[in-house]
Parts: sequence; structure tokens; C-alpha cells
Amino acid sequence: MIQEVLRSLFKKPVTNLYPAQKLEMADNYRGKLVFHASKCIGCRLCMKDCPTGAITINKVGEKQFEAEIDLGKCIYCAQCVDSCLKKALETTKNVELAQLDKNKLKVVFNAATEGQAEKQA
Ligand code: SF4
Ligand code: SF4
Repeated sequence: MIQEVLRSLFKKPVTNLYPAQKLEMADNYRGKLVFHASKCIGCRLCMKDCPTGAITINKVGEKQFEAEIDLGKCIYCAQCVDSCLKKALETTKNVELAQLDKNKLKVVFNAATEGQAEKQA
């Protein structure tokens, strides 16, 4: 017992000191979604196939669409990404989504944000 305690005192910890130390996520990690308005044709297949109703596509102009995504409802299954024939949706490695106000998890992506930042709904 004493030996085990002493040994563990000098072992490298197996856990990471998050947030000071961050893990690099795998390339195919399913984190926060982004939407590329320039590629969207408004077919709404993503909406139809989303199991939680987390994504809404709104028409905002002639052949212009925006995506309203509730990151609090999203289960990060990436079904919408697979369903989109135009590759207008993609997952990212971003996992830092914690918010005190759940309304801040409702985000809108449009032509102005073009897959990068987003504004709140
Ligand atoms: S994001 Fe893709 S699947 Fe969704 S409406 Fe646009 S083109 Fe269709
Ligand atoms: S990742 Fe899954 S739950 Fe989230 S919006 Fe896409 S289909 Fe819906």
C-alpha cells in the first residue's frame, strides 16, 4: 500500500489540467456546426433529417438562406452534414460551448458570417 502511494506521487498524471491544457480533437470530431450560406440551396433536407429539430433554414432573399441552429438541442450526430448534398454544413473541433444562458446557444449563420463567426438568434 505504502509502495503504491509513493509510486503514484512520482507518476505523470493521466488527466489533463483543462482549461490550461487542451486536447487536440481528432480530425473527424463532431463538434460545433458551421454553415456556409454561399453553398446552401434551401432544400431543407438537413431540417427534415435532424432528429432533434435543432436546425432551421430560413429564406432571407432571392436564393439566400440562413441557418438557425440551437446548439443546446443539437446532439452532434452530424446527420445534417451527411444529408446536405451541397456541403453547406460541416462539423468543427470546437467543443467549448458551455454557457450560463441557454439562449446564447441559439446561433444564426448567414451570408455575413459565412461559416465562421455567428450572431445570436
Ligand atoms: S444546408 Fe444543405 S441540406 Fe440544408 S437546406 Fe442548405 S443545401 Fe439543403
Ligand atoms: S448535428 Fe444532428 S442534432 Fe445537430 S443539427 Fe445536425 S442533425 Fe440536428
